Amino acid sequence: MALIDQFGRHVNYVRISVTDRCDFRCVYCMAEEMTFLPKKSVLTLEEIERISTAFVELGVTKIRLTGGEPLIRKNVLSLFERIGALPYLKELVTTTNGSQLPTMAQGLKDAGLKRINISLDSLNPTRFKELTRFGNLDQVLEGIDAARAADFNQIKLNAVIIKGRNDDEILDLVEFAKEKQIDICFIEEMPLGVITEHNRGESLCSSDEVRSIIETGYELIPDTYKTGGPTKYFKLKGSESRVGFISPHSNNFCGDCNRVRVTVEGRLLLCLGNEHSVDLKTPMRDGCTDEELKQIIIESMKIKPKNHEFDVHDEPQILRFMNTTGG
Ligand code: SAM
Ligand code: SF4
Repeated sequence: MALIDQFGRHVNYVRISVTDRCDFRCVYCMAEEMTFLPKKSVLTLEEIERISTAFVELGVTKIRLTGGEPLIRKNVLSLFERIGALPYLKELVTTTNGSQLPTMAQGLKDAGLKRINISLDSLNPTRFKELTRFGNLDQVLEGIDAARAADFNQIKLNAVIIKGRNDDEILDLVEFAKEKQIDICFIEEMPLGVITEHNRGESLCSSDEVRSIIETGYELIPDTYKTGGPTKYFKLKGSESRVGFISPHSNNFCGDCNRVRVTVEGRLLLCLGNEHSVDLKTPMRDGCTDEELKQIIIESMKIKPKNHEFDVHDEPQILRFMNTTGG
């Protein structure tokens, strides 16, 4: 069985937010004061597993567990193990801020995780603290080393570049990735939720701008490497590392979209940049069968929108923050 939307796009990748909570408050992701959801509104680990199973039975081959900070959810390793064991799932991956990796990297590897994304926006401890509000750079660097020691097939750093805040660190971040022999991906900031610390329109650093800065110090060679997501990769000449770009603004990738998301409250979100969604939690809690759950997912494909509606220069159209959505 396959999930195909009205534009003929084949959905084979699901990103699930396992918690809206986080030990950081990154300035582009969350407001300083956040109210998190009550426990009863959040999907249980069993419900997340049930949704994952339904998707895999509908032909999904890649699942990303994200958040919030996925690794601070209690007993999350058992969820990784159970989802990782689903027959026909080719890839289970995660995105983390790295804070818990010093103690959890090996457990994740043992649970079957092959690739891991770690967010890192600055190598300067003071600035790292300013950007994440609560983060400790040393802990994250230790987490990156723990992930390297656990020998994942791919470790990718994610960096959101904000003009005037960390655009002067682009070359340092590339050099760091090169030294550690891992990949790095630069993400254009998306207007999700209302933030106050900077104006997203004025501080947007496009992938082309990031790339020209990188090319002052390194040669980038176009690469066909693909991981089933929107990242466009380049090889970093003279190194094992790749440099990727996720460019929702400057290079719209909606035409190839193969993804849907499940929010922490069990809303199946058909597009990160639109509000089209379908409730999976209520039917499950009302006792629907697995077949009925799958039918709801199949039907939802009819409302997957053609494009995202991001415009950093307008008032934010999408009021939910990235942490509830599953970034
Ligand atoms: N807490 C984990 C982390 O930070 O890696 C996982 C969740 S976080 C929402 C997933 C990714 O989304 C991170 O790489 C983060 O930098 C990115 N992100 C968060 N808010 C964003 C925004 N408004 N625009 C672009 N990327 C964003
Ligand atoms: Fe937390 Fe990740 Fe959002 Fe930063 S980007 S506040 S680490 S969820």
